[in-house]
Amino acid sequence: MSEMEYKVKEAPTCPHCKSVMEQMDSRHLDWGLPYLWVCFNNNCTFFMKGWKHMMESYGQLVSYRFMIQPDSGTVGVIPAFSHEYLHQHGKPSNPYLDEE
Ligand SMILES: [Zn+2]
Repeated sequence: MSEMEYKVKEAPTCPHCKSVMEQMDSRHLDWGLPYLWVCFNNNCTFFMKGWKHMMESYGQLVSYRFMIQPDSGTVGVIPAFSHEYLHQHGKPSNPYLDEE
């Protein structure tokens, strides 16, 4: 599927915090997509609830961020494993930067 046919080509707004979502390079993940739209707002209510829920339910410092697949517009979540992981991989990045 060509990116031209993607349903969500422009940055959507997170329904939980109204922040503009940003692209996350997902080429190293198993989605088969170059990027995902992700809400990177650390104060997003969805993200904040996730930390609390996972800690109370599983005793783990893990959460998830609100995500939209650009090809289908399908809504989902991506795990945010730790602050270290987020620092390395969970930030906005352009998947094409190294392909110029
Ligand atoms: Zn949000």
